[in-house]
Amino acid sequence: MNNSTQSVPVPVADLVKLATAQRILAMDGHDDITLGHMSLRDPAGRGVWIKKALRGIDEVFDESDFVLIDWNGKPLANDGPLHSEWPIHTQIMARRRDVNVVGHTHAKFAVLFSATDQELCALNHEGANLVDRVGRFTRTAGLINTVELGDELAGALADNPAALLKNHGIVFVGADIAEAALNGLFLERACRMQVTMASTGWKWSAPSGVDHDRKMGISTAAATGHQSVFFDYFERRLKRTEARDGGARKP
Ligand SMILES: [Zn+2]
Repeated sequence: MNNSTQSVPVPVADLVKLATAQRILAMDGHDDITLGHMSLRDPAGRGVWIKKALRGIDEVFDESDFVLIDWNGKPLANDGPLHSEWPIHTQIMARRRDVNVVGHTHAKFAVLFSATDQELCALNHEGANLVDRVGRFTRTAGLINTVELGDELAGALADNPAALLKNHGIVFVGADIAEAALNGLFLERACRMQVTMASTGWKWSAPSGVDHDRKMGISTAAATGHQSVFFDYFERRLKRTEARDGGARKP
């Protein structure tokens, strides 16, 4: 942290967890070179803690990997570099008071799915969890690097837990880190199932009505209290994966 910002309180534990969430997402197919970012609403209301640019989501570990910006994108704590897509985070959080965590990645199967006009189906549990709950942003496949585009994306997300950005990626949100990360993980997994099924050329169907509701009953993390159980599982798997790679460490 630089001298001018030494007095700014830093939510260290939350930022360590947010870094972990991003490495989990990378482990599950969301990595794309140095692109993608997650953010946390500053507990003191000053703005948003967003992952720094120039490193991958698999290369972040602690509070030094984040910069605090105000609602206009001005850095308040920690030196950049700043992702140009910061308006995704400020504008979604400005619109959604229930959201404290925002993520944006170029998850591979979700990007493929976003290029189609297919509806997301309940092929698996993750899909069931998100049927009719995914917004679509189609205005541009380019960077969301203006407040105007950020506002439009926030409108496309509406009250949903996630949205597809055509030929670009996804955004996902939550009241806390685990909820946001799971929404992102679930959307990519649901898209992976549907894209894979479509590539077989087989006839297929997915549950609807009561059957769908029953599937939802065992798949909705929040409804079944499984959210922290699922996140803890992903955290253990990340630890095993990183141990096999010689341990988690900063590049
Ligand atoms: Zn992007």
